[in-house]
This record gives sequence, C-alpha cells and structure tokens, in this order.
Amino acid sequence: MSLSDVIAYKIHDRMVDLSCLPNPVPENALPIRTSSVEGLEILRHSCTHLMAQAVLRLYPQARLAVGPVIEDGFYYDIDLDVSLSENDFEKIESEMKKIVAENLPVQRVEYTKAQAFEIFSQKNEVYKVEIIENLESDAIISAYSQGEFLDLCKGPHVPSTAYLQHFRLTKISGAYWKGDQKNKMLQRIYGTCFACRESLEGHLKALEEAQKRDHRALGQKMELFHMQALAPGMIFWHPKGWTLYRLVEDAIRTFLGEDYLEVKTPQVVHRSLWEQSGHWAMFSQNMFQTSIEDDFYAIKPMNCPCHVQIFKQKIHSYKDLPLRLAEFGSCHRYEPSGALHGMMRLRQFTQDDAHIFCTPEQIQSEVSSFNTLLKRVYAYFGFDEILVKLSTRPEKRVGSDELWDQAEAALASALQQDGLAYEIQPGEGAFYGPKIEFQLKDCLNRKWQLGTIQLDFSMPMRLEAHYIDAAGQKQHPVMIHRAILGSIERFIAILLEHYAGDLPLKFAPIQFMILPISEKHRDYAALVAKIFKENQFRVEIDLRNEKIGYKIRDHVLKKIPYLIILGDQEAEQGTISLRTRQGQMRNHLTVPQLQDLISQEL
Ligand code: ZN
Repeated sequence: MSLSDVIAYKIHDRMVDLSCLPNPVPENALPIRTSSVEGLEILRHSCTHLMAQAVLRLYPQARLAVGPVIEDGFYYDIDLDVSLSENDFEKIESEMKKIVAENLPVQRVEYTKAQAFEIFSQKNEVYKVEIIENLESDAIISAYSQGEFLDLCKGPHVPSTAYLQHFRLTKISGAYWKGDQKNKMLQRIYGTCFACRESLEGHLKALEEAQKRDHRALGQKMELFHMQALAPGMIFWHPKGWTLYRLVEDAIRTFLGEDYLEVKTPQVVHRSLWEQSGHWAMFSQNMFQTSIEDDFYAIKPMNCPCHVQIFKQKIHSYKDLPLRLAEFGSCHRYEPSGALHGMMRLRQFTQDDAHIFCTPEQIQSEVSSFNTLLKRVYAYFGFDEILVKLSTRPEKRVGSDELWDQAEAALASALQQDGLAYEIQPGEGAFYGPKIEFQLKDCLNRKWQLGTIQLDFSMPMRLEAHYIDAAGQKQHPVMIHRAILGSIERFIAILLEHYAGDLPLKFAPIQFMILPISEKHRDYAALVAKIFKENQFRVEIDLRNEKIGYKIRDHVLKKIPYLIILGDQEAEQGTISLRTRQGQMRNHLTVPQLQDLISQEL
C-alpha cells in the first residue's frame, strides 16, 4: 500500500484534517507533509490514539487521562489496576500493528458540552469527564474516532491508522493526575513515531547512546556523587565529584577575573525582603519556608535581592558604575518530586550568578563583554556551537517605551557586534525587561539552555536602589542578571554526558592512577607520585593486593585518563609506562617524553 505523504492542510494558519477539507479546496490551503515539523506532530499525536486504543483492547478496564505530544515523541497517562512494565511493550506494539493493518479511517466529530459529557460518562472515562466539566458551557468539543475507539482531541489527525507505520514505545513511568501528588498515580507510557524507518532507527540509536551516557550512571561508576531519598533533589558529592565541582567553579572564577567582585549572601532571609522584591507573591509556593522566634523566613530561591542589599549599603555615584557582583549562590526551590531528574533538575543547586548595576547607556557594552566571556567559557569546556534567542517586550511590562527601545536595541547590537546569529522571540521577555538566552549543542545534537542575560528595570525600583547621576539627581540603576552555566550541578551533568565520562585531562578529578605491579615497586611508585604532585597533577596510587589486569579494568571503568604502570624495568631505568584511555600503551617513557605528551593533551 502506498500512502500520500500529505496528511493535513493548513488554511489561514488553521490546521484541517484531509477529510474536513472544504470543496473546492481553497487556493491558499498549504499541504502538511509528514516530513515537516507539523506533520511529525500530527503523526505522533495520532500515534497516542493508536497506543491508547491498543491498551484499551488489551485492558478494557483502563481509563485514559491525557496524551500530549512532547519533544521527540509522545506519552499517554493511563489509569490501570495492572502494573505495566517495559516487558509489556511488545504485546502493546503488536496490538498497535494490528490496528494499523485494519486501516481504520480516523474521523472528526463535534459535540456540545452536554453531548460529550453524556458519551464519555457512559464510557466511564472519568478523567475525560473531568476535563469536559471544566470547559465553557457553550464549548464545541471535538473528538476523533477510529473503529471502536473515541478520544477527545483538537486534532488534526492522519486520515487512517495505516499512516502510522514507524513507531516504538520507549519507556514507562509514574505520573500524578494533573501533576498533583494528592491525586492518583497514573502510568505514563512514552513512545515515538516517525515518517520513515530510517528516522525511527536513527532516533532509537541516539536514545541508546544517550542512555549509555546518562550522568546518573556515570556519576556512580566514576564515584562522583549519589542521591538518596533522605534529601530528594539534592546531591551528596563524593571526594572525586567535589574535585570536579571545584574545578568547574574555579574555572569560572578565573574567567571572571578582576571584572567582577565575588560576594556571599545569606541562605535564610526574612520574608519581608521576598515580599518587597515581589518573589513572595509570584513564587512562594516554590520556596522552602521556615519560622524562627515567631518570625517568617525563606531559604533563598535566588540571589538577586540579596545583591541589591549589598549595593544599597553605600551611596553610589554614576562614576562607580558598572558594579558587578558575582556569587556562586546556592539556591533552593521546591520542585514536585515527579519533576526531579538526576542533576538536570534539582531542589538545591548553585548558580554561577552575577548582577551588574549600570546606567542605561552602559547596557550595550556590558552585554557585549558578557557575550565575549560566555563564548570563551563554552569553548574552554569544549562546546563551540551556541544558539541565541532574544526575547523582546511583552504586553504587560514595567518601564517606559523609550527605555525598552533603548534596551532591546542595545541587546541586538551587542549580539550583532559579537557576530552571534540570533532568533527573536517577540513578546517573550519578562515584564521587567528583555533577555537573551544561550543554548549549546552537545555531541548528540541535544540542545541545553544554560546562559542568560536579563535586563531588569523593576527590582532596583522595588528595592529602592539608587545612584547619583552627573546632574546630581537620584536614579535607579539598570540591574542585569546574568549566568553563564546557569546551574553548576546541571552543567556538570551535561559535561559528563557530552564526554561520556571521558573528561578532558584538565577536568578529570584523578588524572593519573599509579599501579605498581608488585609490592617491591611501592617505593618507586611513591617517588613518581611525589613528582606528579609537585607538578600540580591529581594522582593516586592503587596499592590494593589485586592482579594488575584487574586493577587496569577497574580504573578504565572509572574513566581515569592515564594509568601509570610501574614494574622492574621502569624502576631500574627511572621511566614509566603509560596506558591511555584509548587503550594504547606507551612503554618506558622518560620524564621529558611524558611532559611532551601531557602538554599536548592539555
Ligand atoms: Zn538575578
């Protein structure tokens, strides 16, 4: 059977099912092909229905909640008394294939609220009924049917189930109804669907590769950190992991140099500051709160208002600006347990945060020097591809149009001047100022949003920060929030996944592991270790009473870059033998030869 790759049409920015096309087809109707982004979304959305239908055929008692399209695929939340696992995927997939072979036409139907309520109540689809109950009373509710299956949906969908040829279920997890812990836990089945076999296979291969690189598994193998239920969303750093953490922090500190002044501010701060800054009204449900001596405090979710307090301790002249205050600021934010994900999403994390207090005229040069700094930092860590987005004024905002004009123009010209191509996101700025977001691409082509630079016209006003301008008048400074890595913990996770644990020598917590072949080479091993340490290398000796082959395998698994193997010959000659992580042996190296090799990698 050969099917057209046109699966829907777009008319005046509205997507229309093939079967609902007006006759004659309007001239401005644009075909949507499976190869397009929109086409892929339609395929995946249709595939959620296909999967739900298969689940219902296998488990008629199942109740369907919601099934959206997400990046790279889709999921469906299902309420089922049988606990499913990945072992059930084959059975569900083969039922899906049967429905595909049946080539069931997918048809759109529209109901009034009362009709929809009646139909889904009869099916005992309690979650759908709850969704319907929350709709406006005059809403026209669309649904899609294929064979015996009917689901609420905006559409559009593929014309028939036969269009869904290349899909795969990928994982399963728990999810609360409406993301609320007080509600029932449902089973979330994830899957993906593509237009052709090659794309599906490529995607599955990339998934497999990503799994191999999962930072949680690497963190355990490399003995860097662990997490446990005692402190959800927080990290127990082990010695090697903490070494890595400090290497990253120190690198940033070095890059900041003398341009920034480093500060440290309190963790627990009185509620009145958060009320004044506006965080209490917007954000209090995400803050850890505490009371002491009958007074209310919160653990800081961000550092900004504290930096304003430092700024305010002095009277500033325009000549003192810009003032750049940096902090490796430990922040706590309450994230629901379902949202936590390794070091990618935590409740406690450390921002490489800084705030620049400046005049409106200084915005452009500040943004430009930040861009330069950010490019240097990303390159240092091995990332060259940066994607940039500029978000401009939203409808609701503070500050005059004149100030916004000036600020947006300053951001844009800084980006142009620095040769950074950017995409504009109109209206996506915060109410208090425009911003730039920086994403980088890792070796699996995954995009990670890390850096931001955000102008703020509001906080200096709310918190009453001033400087004296050239005319002797009190003015509010512009406050610039900026971070290069965002969260250090999350950045380390990205670093680990990007390098699959094979960190460049400069970040490896242990750079050299010395393995004496037997007891009698211990003294020589100690001497070699001493020389390495004197040269500021991170080195350890493995004195365990194990066979050399066992020790080598063990340290290769732990991703130690260089293993130094010392036996009779090395001790006699005063040389060393080196095993690289690629598995190459370099025997009997002299000190200058070794120095050469190391400086090459560094
Ligand atoms: Zn800030």
